[in-house]
Amino acid sequence: ENPERLARPEVQALTPYQSARRIVAAAGGRGDVWLNANESAESDDYALRNGRLNRYPDAQPAEVIARYAAYSGVSPESILATRGGDEGIDLLIRTFCTGGRDAVLQFPPTYGMYSVSAETANVRVVNLTTSPENGWTPDVKALEAALEKDPAIQVVFACSPNNPTGNLLSPEVVSGLINATRGRAILVLDEAYIEFSPDDTAVDRLERAPHLVIIRTLSKAFALAGIRCGFLIGSPAVIGMIRKVIAPYPIPAPVADIAEQALSDEGIARMKTRVLATLRRREELARALRALPGVLEVSPSASNFLLVRFAESARVFTGLWDRGIILRDQSRQPTLAGAIRITVGTDEENALLLAALTELLGEY
Ligand code: PMP
Repeated sequence: ENPERLARPEVQALTPYQSARRIVAAAGGRGDVWLNANESAESDDYALRNGRLNRYPDAQPAEVIARYAAYSGVSPESILATRGGDEGIDLLIRTFCTGGRDAVLQFPPTYGMYSVSAETANVRVVNLTTSPENGWTPDVKALEAALEKDPAIQVVFACSPNNPTGNLLSPEVVSGLINATRGRAILVLDEAYIEFSPDDTAVDRLERAPHLVIIRTLSKAFALAGIRCGFLIGSPAVIGMIRKVIAPYPIPAPVADIAEQALSDEGIARMKTRVLATLRRREELARALRALPGVLEVSPSASNFLLVRFAESARVFTGLWDRGIILRDQSRQPTLAGAIRITVGTDEENALLLAALTELLGEY
């Protein structure tokens, strides 16, 4: 009995990724306004063509790959379609790190799945914490020193725009990261939110950086978190290695069908329209939040969410939760005491949030 004791020790010890949807449901709570997962506030409609589902799908759906290659400006051999960016993260670790021996490096506060995937694989995590004083900019000198000191580091994860802080990496920092890792480790730039700041992609660096891999997704600006489709972009050599590790048929035919439509000219035009609307609502929300008592700081954001520091974040977070408004508490992340991450919602959702916050903060 107790079959869970048969699980690998690192899995028994693992703190898994927390999905608020499951926590709210388990607590029998209600969630009316979901501003916790950086999804698109608006949905898009797709007609599903019911093809021959008795057959396995194309392992890498050719038309989706061709369209994503055209959209991102690389060749199809440089692209691998994955089950969301999350599978991309996991594949990178499984391809380049040996459990019990190797390490990955990250710059907290950042996206949680780099460490969850590493810990699952018994891969050590080296943290170079960034600080709000310099806008959460990774320290390239500290990275050089860490790589020098710790030869087990195989993969370096950086995120731009970074979740949950919203800041971009400058071109100088990207150059620094590329040069520090060259010939030494795989450098991963997670661009899950890049459509909200499209001029800042590092995709043009790929040609001269064969060790660079860029993570992309349809979950955010493309409003398709529900289909679980993302991409890795890298040199054909690196993508070829990861291709060996990915499951045989990772992208279900209905997913490929919808992704293909989303990546048509019309789909991309709709995405860009949604992005502009999101940026407008983000600025309106940021302005309104800055005017509230008890809001200490709203960080500048290059993405579809805001990081907000409150004088009494625990009271704000639970007060909103009790009112059915679900946000993402970040207060336990390094350097983020008092911080809550808020996804930009629809005008209506943002108004509900601001009304509830005004009520709560008025109770001081
Ligand atoms: N990277 C970052 C920075 C993210 O915030 C997310 C979404 N939470 C992902 C990757 C993964 O998203 P998905 O698996 O939905 O593509």
